[in-house]
Amino acid sequence: MNIPKVEFAVIGGSGTLSSNFPCGASDSGVKILAEGLEFTTPYGQSPAFMLFSVDNKEVLTCRMHGWRRGVSRADASRQVFWVLREAGVKRIFSEGGVGTVNPLLDPRDFVIPHDYVDLSMRKHVELDGRYLLVMRDALCSEMRRLLVKVTRTHFDGRIFDRGVYAVTDGRHFESPAEIAMLRGQADIIGQSLCPEVYLSREIGACYAGLYFVVNYGEGVVKNWSHEQMKDIFYDDAPMISRILLDTIRQLSSSENCECQSLRKETLLDVYK
Ligand SMILES: [Zn+2]
Repeated sequence: MNIPKVEFAVIGGSGTLSSNFPCGASDSGVKILAEGLEFTTPYGQSPAFMLFSVDNKEVLTCRMHGWRRGVSRADASRQVFWVLREAGVKRIFSEGGVGTVNPLLDPRDFVIPHDYVDLSMRKHVELDGRYLLVMRDALCSEMRRLLVKVTRTHFDGRIFDRGVYAVTDGRHFESPAEIAMLRGQADIIGQSLCPEVYLSREIGACYAGLYFVVNYGEGVVKNWSHEQMKDIFYDDAPMISRILLDTIRQLSSSENCECQSLRKETLLDVYK
């Protein structure tokens, strides 16, 4: 199958994984159009994508950021974004569970971050490097506003409409000293927002994420509980799927944001 032309994509994380997105949302407006779509990319065989529609909008989605055993995370990201670029995707949502740095946060808080700090040592975070990527307002302001609004209709707990996401390599969690170093610099911590945020801007797509706190960072408030993390992983996941589907439903196809203007032609001849 050729790569379908679609405007929307969801790069799934732990919430959509455990609820078998989009099926686990039990949304009668969802139709599965194709499953197990793998494509050949310059970075290796892509992960499996699913194509579905929600009402009349078509969406491409893959599980857990396209990460697989034996494929570097850099290559997985580039495979995913090469496919999304060929598909002509303009709006990309991500989601995932995160830990806390900010001691005011608790498990089961939602954070829709407005900025990030990349502490990963990841290399190869570009496709062809043709563009100068301005990372001001890296998370699309229009999509963030809508995510906050829709999340409020599904969830009566705490929703933070801004925050800084610190990105580490993982897969292990961070040490207490690492979390202490980030205190005051970031609010939540996870492993997926970069390089997705760079690659989205490179392909000219808007990007925003919905993050659910699943644990305290080490040394913050108290030791976190694996039992509680497991409960969140299974119990709250269908809600995350429903929030994403309703957000896509309400998102207009014309962009009302600055994202497009923050990608410029590079001035560096070596990339031309
Ligand atoms: Zn945007």
